[in-house]
Amino acid sequence: MPLGRLLTLPILSAASRGNINIQNLMPTLNHLFANNRAWAERIRSEEPEFFRNLSRQQVPKYFWIGCSDSRVPANQITGLMPGEMFVHRNVANVVPPADLNCLSALQFAVDVLKVRHVIVCGHYGCAGVRAVLHGYRLGLVDNWLQNVEDVRQKHADQLAELGDEVQQFDRLCELNVIEQVASVCAAFSIQEAWARGQPLAVHGWIYAVSNGLLCDLGLCVTGRRELAPAYQAAVAGQDDPLMPAALIGHVGL
Ligand code: ZN
Repeated sequence: MPLGRLLTLPILSAASRGNINIQNLMPTLNHLFANNRAWAERIRSEEPEFFRNLSRQQVPKYFWIGCSDSRVPANQITGLMPGEMFVHRNVANVVPPADLNCLSALQFAVDVLKVRHVIVCGHYGCAGVRAVLHGYRLGLVDNWLQNVEDVRQKHADQLAELGDEVQQFDRLCELNVIEQVASVCAAFSIQEAWARGQPLAVHGWIYAVSNGLLCDLGLCVTGRRELAPAYQAAVAGQDDPLMPAALIGHVGL
């Protein structure tokens, strides 16, 4: 008897006795397929060769490292089409120096795709950052969030000077981006790219879920020697006009 038949037999048998609702066992998510067909049709109507051209190659200029948060979809908030942005997302947009997943995506983006810009984008109201700030215990993800805890400890003095808890939350979201930009810049593939003269800029941005706006943290590194001064200015730059916390508010969670 085929394996599939063996697997379905107990379910059908139970269902036939009226104990189990088959629909609940096999959710089909038809609305997502309907959305997909409508989206693909709309794209084709606007540009008939779009998918055919896209199937031949991808030549994105940008590599995005962002949070997995469902409210921060990279292509949507930057108005980019498929093929224009290479994307890596994880909880709290961190770039651990020993994370093979993130570093492999970075190396592929830089060495193979030859992206011109690496964008580390955090966001205000990040649940991962909030968990660190408040010492919440969430489970396995606590191990991952140790990367953000390291950022919090490193900048504990600056955070302590911000009496308001909301300001601390916003600032830790920003500092986390700054530290991850430094981590990207220290990565072997980035260092090698700069050493051979490949044009490559690393940016630190933050996104406000509360108003849908991106903001540049004023941190942009295009070579080895730029990192230290740019990093120090960004860490010290609470009053920099590019620093958005006071200008655009936070998500208020
Ligand atoms: Zn987040």
